[in-house]
Amino acid sequence: MLLARRQLIASSAALALPACTTFRPATIGAVRNPKCLPAAHVSPERVIRTVAGLRPYRPSGFVVRAEALGDRKLVHNYGHGGAGITLSWGTSRLAVDLGLPGHAGPVAVLGSGIVGLTTARLVQEAGFDVTLYAAALPPHTTSNIAGGQWHPASLYEADQVTPEWIAQFKAAMDYSFRRFQIMVGEEYGIRWVPTYLQMRDEPSGADAPDLPESYEIDRTILGPGEHPFPVRRVRRFMTMYAESGHLLRQLMRDVRLAGGTFVIREFASPAEVAGLPERLIFNCTGLGAGKLFGDTQIEPVRGQLAVLVPQAEVDYAFAGHMGYMFPRADGIICGGTFEHGQWDATPEPAAIARILRKQQAFFAGFRCTA
Ligand SMILES: Cc1cc2nc3c(=O)[nH]c(=O)nc-3n(C[C@H](O)[C@H](O)[C@H](O)COP(=O)(O)OP(=O)(O)OC[C@H]3O[C@@H](n4cnc5c(N)ncnc54)[C@H](O)[C@@H]3O)c2cc1C
Repeated sequence: MLLARRQLIASSAALALPACTTFRPATIGAVRNPKCLPAAHVSPERVIRTVAGLRPYRPSGFVVRAEALGDRKLVHNYGHGGAGITLSWGTSRLAVDLGLPGHAGPVAVLGSGIVGLTTARLVQEAGFDVTLYAAALPPHTTSNIAGGQWHPASLYEADQVTPEWIAQFKAAMDYSFRRFQIMVGEEYGIRWVPTYLQMRDEPSGADAPDLPESYEIDRTILGPGEHPFPVRRVRRFMTMYAESGHLLRQLMRDVRLAGGTFVIREFASPAEVAGLPERLIFNCTGLGAGKLFGDTQIEPVRGQLAVLVPQAEVDYAFAGHMGYMFPRADGIICGGTFEHGQWDATPEPAAIARILRKQQAFFAGFRCTA
């Protein structure tokens, strides 16, 4: 069955448009025999690029809040840590619901990462004209660096969030999950992938994940002999992955098709922002919001990635002590650094070498148990 599907893809490839050749079809439900999965071939020779990005992290979570800026209305939507792709549509929905009621006239969105673009789309869907103002456009945003897993990670400290924030988080997760599902497929570069997370060696109360089962589809725990990984226990579930660069490109296309415009402009102060002609302004400047609006809570959490040449047969993701491996059509994403307070978005050869060594050893330990 699988072979037949592969042959079909191969024979239709010659007819495919260039834009379609970078993305493999969605793999909904395609969970292989978990006892014998193909290993990722990790080695320095297979690296096609290395990147580093700064997650916009706030211990007390993202900010979605409205305030007055002179006679303008300003709605913040920033600080998504390691979960900006995951939460994008959701927090943007909350922000737009705070900003639009009672508004008439054009709207400004500051920032053109995933959060600015999804905010702009929702504003357009509600019938308003939008201008996006950003210091940098994709592919030069943090959002382009993201691994693209739909799962909230490195987002907040449990003892620093309020019940009101948790309510916002839940509402954002709910909307985002549903919105991503209707975008699965080649057009936006989103697909479902079986995902394995390393668990503690022995069953314990900590086995219960924070996330409701409704977001970890078909969740199951596999013990020794039930999977090929060189760890004792793993949790497997289905979740979505976005090929970040492709998704951002398509969202920019959608914004333009709906009449939106992009202006390259960096703002140095709230007074400059208040000088915009639009009376409703969404602040989606990610890490930039700290300096621009004086948020001292926000800090960078640097993540470094080695991207390996694509390996079509690897159609599962893994995360654990070895870091994480996400399979994408544009490469195998190997990551796992969370470096608080590091402002330099330049990959460090020593850190990249460490990621590769760990993952090489991990995959060398694969054992088919079937
Ligand atoms: C290595 C790595 C892996 C990640 N993996 C995942 C993952 O698997 N899943 C997931 O959900 N998330 C992941 N993330 C997190 C995700 O990338 C971020 O949460 C997300 O990109 C934040 O989006 P954003 O739009 O707020 O910010 P950005 O993408 O940084 O966009 C900010 C925009 O604001 C503009 N801007 C900033 N300051 C100003 C200013 N003063 N004036 C004008 N414009 C300004 C910028 O130019 C840019 O256009 C990862 C991040 C990293 C670094």
